[in-house]
Amino acid sequence: MRALHFDGRRLACVETAAPSAGPGEAIVRVRLAGICSTDLQILAGYMGFTGIPGHEFVGQVAEGPGEWLGRRVVGEINYACGECPACRRGLGRHCPDRRVMGILGADGAFAEHLAIPVVNLHAVPDGVADEAAVFTEPLAAAFSVLEQVAVGPGMPVTVLGDGKLGLLCAQVLAGTGASVTLVGKHAANLALAASQGVGGVLLADWTPDAAADCVVEATGSPAGLELAMAAVRPRGTLVLKSTVAEPHSLSLAPLVINEVTVVGSRCGLFPPAVAALAAGSVAVTPLIDATYPLADGIAAVAHAARPGVRKVLLAAG
Ligand SMILES: [Zn+2]
Ligand SMILES: [Zn+2]
Repeated sequence: MRALHFDGRRLACVETAAPSAGPGEAIVRVRLAGICSTDLQILAGYMGFTGIPGHEFVGQVAEGPGEWLGRRVVGEINYACGECPACRRGLGRHCPDRRVMGILGADGAFAEHLAIPVVNLHAVPDGVADEAAVFTEPLAAAFSVLEQVAVGPGMPVTVLGDGKLGLLCAQVLAGTGASVTLVGKHAANLALAASQGVGGVLLADWTPDAAADCVVEATGSPAGLELAMAAVRPRGTLVLKSTVAEPHSLSLAPLVINEVTVVGSRCGLFPPAVAALAAGSVAVTPLIDATYPLADGIAAVAHAARPGVRKVLLAAG
């Protein structure tokens, strides 16, 4: 099969053996895969990953238990052991022995086929197009904020970063009735948010005022952390979404002085995201900037790495 392969130094489009299903696994024929900032970090050395990257996909089950065969699916990315204390507490996403699709010890979705545990599969409702379903994983990551922090009507919330994840977080948080302000560097992305009812302001025109009940930091940059600390009110909540690969240092004293609650937030559960896509309560397809055939995957990744670019998709079919 055709796949994008990262050898630890460079990404190449290769012909490689199709995966075979291990115990409890299904083989999914990938229809669309999304390139996310984490993938770009991985290609810069984050996690020391080698293999086939990619963890956002929609596909069709080609091999697996009868009830799944032929179904259109998305898949949770953490492959948990299912038996350790974390797994027994329902926290498979934090299983110490987990593999993570396209990130840690498991090949991912930038390929024609992928192997995935059957327990990780979620069926895509008929009314949800592939182009929307491929957003399930990042949308679930946005919904995880609601799983971790009580956000509600009228609450002043600031989202820092108008990239893909920031745009999804802003929309999901606004859906609770919170008063969301999106701060970003890209006028076009702020305009998109505005068209979805989320007020935005350019970073250059914005002064943090220590007034937000909740700040979601989704800039992907170390500088964003300091801005987020300056934007949250005393005793407010700071949600950290960025995984910054390079080492950085900053003083945490403002968090102590202002008694800020800091919440790290990574992956979310898929059902709320699938339900929101089925209900049409979030609009994800306007985030698509381009779709490339898998064979042009190298160009697609270069496109995704340009500043301000939203979602770039790979079509494997
Ligand atoms: Zn991602
Ligand atoms: Zn486990």
